[in-house]
Amino acid sequence: MNDKPFEDINSDVQYVKGIGPKRAEILKETGINTVRDLLLYIPRDYLDRTKLKKIDQLQPNEKATVMAEVESYGIKYRRKGGPIYITNVTDRTATLELVWFRNIKYVDGLFEEGDLLYISGKTSKMVYPQMPHPEFEFVSDKSQPIHTKGIVPLYPTTAKLKEINLDSRGFRRIIAAALERYSASIEDELNEDIIKKFDLISLRDAISTIHFPESKEALEQARNRLAFSELFYLELLMAIRKNRYKMAQEGIRFRKPGELVKELGQNLPFELTRAQRTVVSEIFKDSSSGYCMRRLIQGDVGSGKTVVAALAAVYAVENGFKAALMVPTEILAEQHYINLRKLFSALELETLLLTGGTAGKDSVREKLEGETPCIAIGTHALIQKNVRINKLGLAVIDEQHRFGVEQRLQLLENNPNTHLLLMTATPIPRTLAMTLYGDYDYSVINELPPGKQPVDTIVIEEGDERRVFEEILKTVERNEQVYIVYPLVEISEKVDLRAATDAYEKLTRGPLGRYGIGLLHGRLTTDQKEQTLNDFNEGAIKILVSTTVIEVGIDNPCVTLIVVVGAERYGLSQLHQLRGRVGRRGLKSRCILKITGNLTQEGKRRIDAMVSTNDGFAIAEMDLQIRGPGEFLGTRQHGFPDLKFANISSDVELMKDARKAAFGIIENDPKLKQEENQVIREHLKKNYKDLFRFADSG
Ligand code: ADP
Ligand code: MG
Repeated sequence: MNDKPFEDINSDVQYVKGIGPKRAEILKETGINTVRDLLLYIPRDYLDRTKLKKIDQLQPNEKATVMAEVESYGIKYRRKGGPIYITNVTDRTATLELVWFRNIKYVDGLFEEGDLLYISGKTSKMVYPQMPHPEFEFVSDKSQPIHTKGIVPLYPTTAKLKEINLDSRGFRRIIAAALERYSASIEDELNEDIIKKFDLISLRDAISTIHFPESKEALEQARNRLAFSELFYLELLMAIRKNRYKMAQEGIRFRKPGELVKELGQNLPFELTRAQRTVVSEIFKDSSSGYCMRRLIQGDVGSGKTVVAALAAVYAVENGFKAALMVPTEILAEQHYINLRKLFSALELETLLLTGGTAGKDSVREKLEGETPCIAIGTHALIQKNVRINKLGLAVIDEQHRFGVEQRLQLLENNPNTHLLLMTATPIPRTLAMTLYGDYDYSVINELPPGKQPVDTIVIEEGDERRVFEEILKTVERNEQVYIVYPLVEISEKVDLRAATDAYEKLTRGPLGRYGIGLLHGRLTTDQKEQTLNDFNEGAIKILVSTTVIEVGIDNPCVTLIVVVGAERYGLSQLHQLRGRVGRRGLKSRCILKITGNLTQEGKRRIDAMVSTNDGFAIAEMDLQIRGPGEFLGTRQHGFPDLKFANISSDVELMKDARKAAFGIIENDPKLKQEENQVIREHLKKNYKDLFRFADSG
């Protein structure tokens, strides 16, 4: 192998034997520009042609591979239906008839008596062995068969590629040719140390094998090696980003917590749970360390994240800085504003609200630009161009999964060294979190405040209005409150808004009307929303008909029943969020999932999952199984490399190894300066450069 001349695998793909300029042009349209691209054009599937069959063992309608010798061949003219081409082959056990009804020109003249062939295909229904349009290859000493024997690759192709004969067969040929000439020149992207330590095969072998594997085991090994590489570089990115935050010495260094924090602690209407205390002390430690804090806090709905954010915010103010709390909806911003102001009422501290609908925006903006420490609560309005927050010491992004990476970045734009807390109630499985947010420190609030009871979940089919009515009536008669939620899906926004409005009007006229019914949706003005929410929170309204604007964060402890209409239309985490709106304090609560009769398979799995558990992390696991990892990745669109081989939900062990390897390297050699890490440094520079832009958030 090693005496072959070095070939540059970054050469133009046209130089591969059998390609040439014309085919190259079309290949380039598919994104295959270089030899390397071609070698990384991965089979979509494989045919198992490892077992050779004897002809006398063949059954009708069977896919099989045989090795046999040509006995006779020629065109046969039929009375009806035109000429066909027949080649008879034998393996001494019997004769097999190969027959072509089309493409006769192609096969005519190919065969000679005594030629030895590998033949693969499906036998016909005939009682004697016959195989129409088989794939075949001549057995030769010179080269290995690539089409008919062993595990045979199938490649993705397109109509255009097929026009230049690049179907699976065509690809096999050019890829085999490319491997023949270039494989010896494939340099590894991992260093010897890692390869040995994690018992991997070389990149060269992995790439050859992924195209032409000798066995299923070999294929698995090759796939593992390629997946490991991907995960290794993914984790390396995370390790570098994380290290960068840590190294940023100019991180704002807060003093030890003082009077203001203490005062707030004393004014809390409840004792913090152990989990809350742990997370708060982690935050205090981070932000007094001199590093830039980058911390993700996961806590199930109702685990009490708001108060954690409040303590962190007050800590920033105490140190002479501002704190900003950004949330995805106006309603949630207002609620946080009202609750936090109440919580801070005994403290000397200004709390500001900035949303799209806030009155007096100019004065708020002025204060944000000023020097005086304060706490700003708001929506996307906080990151509008005309808003500048001066001396931002802490940014908290609540329900962070609702924001894009760019938006999170914007909040830090003028204050790159600001401490950052991301909070999310949509739990994702721990291993996934470690990967998606591997560059963040990670806290879990894995405990609910005392008294929080599991919510009973009841499934009711559309039409059984009586039962829903009775549940609502029982609830309001106990002087408790109710949400009725109508889905708002973009494509049918009007129809859905209609549904909510109609239901509201009907209820108002009906027997439940006297308990007070409110209507809440995104199209109301800020004042209307505020009014309705106020009436509801004070109990003047007992039943709130709403679109999904209440999905996240809303906290009214007197609500003990939520009716989710069209529940089959929601994703699992959304349903869990909605259900999290009730059962928030001591009182036994219920969640009615109203469904239409004909559920899809997935819809049924989601509803079943909801009935089976109240545990957000269990639900996240099920969600991952139902939807696959793609959706979870979606919440982190940018700053995350594409994965071709690795599957972040099933390659858990591989991921742990890759993480260990990557973090180990960065720990010992943060700038990748050492000789043995040059391979890695180069590969990273070449292939992952773009991803560094997202180093500060996301
Ligand atoms: P989430 O984590 O979903 O944002 P919230 O912060 O909205 O949860 O808290 C849910 C409810 O629990 C609120 O009414 C809050 O006042 C209450 N709460 C938070 N922490 C505690 C605690 N340690 N003990 C009792 N109640 C608490
Ligand atoms: Mg919350």
